[in-house]
Amino acid sequence: MEFSNKIIIAIDGYSSTGKSTLAKKIAKKLGYIYVDTGAMYRAVSLYALQNDFISKDKFDKNSLVSNLHNIELHFQYNPELGYSEMFLNGKNVESEIRSLEISNLVSTIATVTEIRQKLVEQQQKMGINKGIVMDGRDIGTVVFPNAKLKIFMTASSEKRAQRRYKEMIDNGENVTYESVLENVNTRDYIDTNRNDSPLIKAKDAIEIDNSELSVVETFEKVYQQVLRKIVL
Ligand code: C5P
Repeated sequence: MEFSNKIIIAIDGYSSTGKSTLAKKIAKKLGYIYVDTGAMYRAVSLYALQNDFISKDKFDKNSLVSNLHNIELHFQYNPELGYSEMFLNGKNVESEIRSLEISNLVSTIATVTEIRQKLVEQQQKMGINKGIVMDGRDIGTVVFPNAKLKIFMTASSEKRAQRRYKEMIDNGENVTYESVLENVNTRDYIDTNRNDSPLIKAKDAIEIDNSELSVVETFEKVYQQVLRKIVL
């Protein structure tokens, strides 16, 4: 559906609340660009892991920061999938960045101000022409504080872990439900307690708890809000 006045839609919230599923559906319906900012933090984490700057028990933040200029990130649209995939230094890393190993490192990486500055700058450039749906943790508060529509997604941690666990098992990952639940809780704790751009609901964001809502119900609820903003 094409509307003439393009807006920016910011979707923030806790881990595994279905932000990206929702954002993709809205972008498709409106003919907007969809940007998964979590994929960018995950790609930086993969780079750090591959270069031995981070592991389960150590983090050489200074070396990573001094190598930031060697990290090139871009999204490339995959017409078969209907959305863009993450490329790190020219390589498609879409599946590698979704592993539990990366999920266990990414929130530590995302506390680093120099990394956030680099990624936020890139994200803001992507929104210059509006017509964008971006999901993450700081989109409505830091990246696009003037976004026309801000959604803040929540759900119980058990529901979120169940969804993420199913997704990972479907993708062939060998994980336990308990390890996924622990990851979801730990990430939320780090994301909400970090100093730089913590995960908080923007004052003007609309909160949606989808613990008991299906994907379609969540979409319908948010799409009503979208229409209110663009059909004015
Ligand atoms: O969205 P996703 O779960 O893939 O994000 C992975 C992690 O990246 C989050 O847990 C958070 O630590 C970090 N992140 C962030 N700011 C964003 C997007 C993601 O700090 N805008």
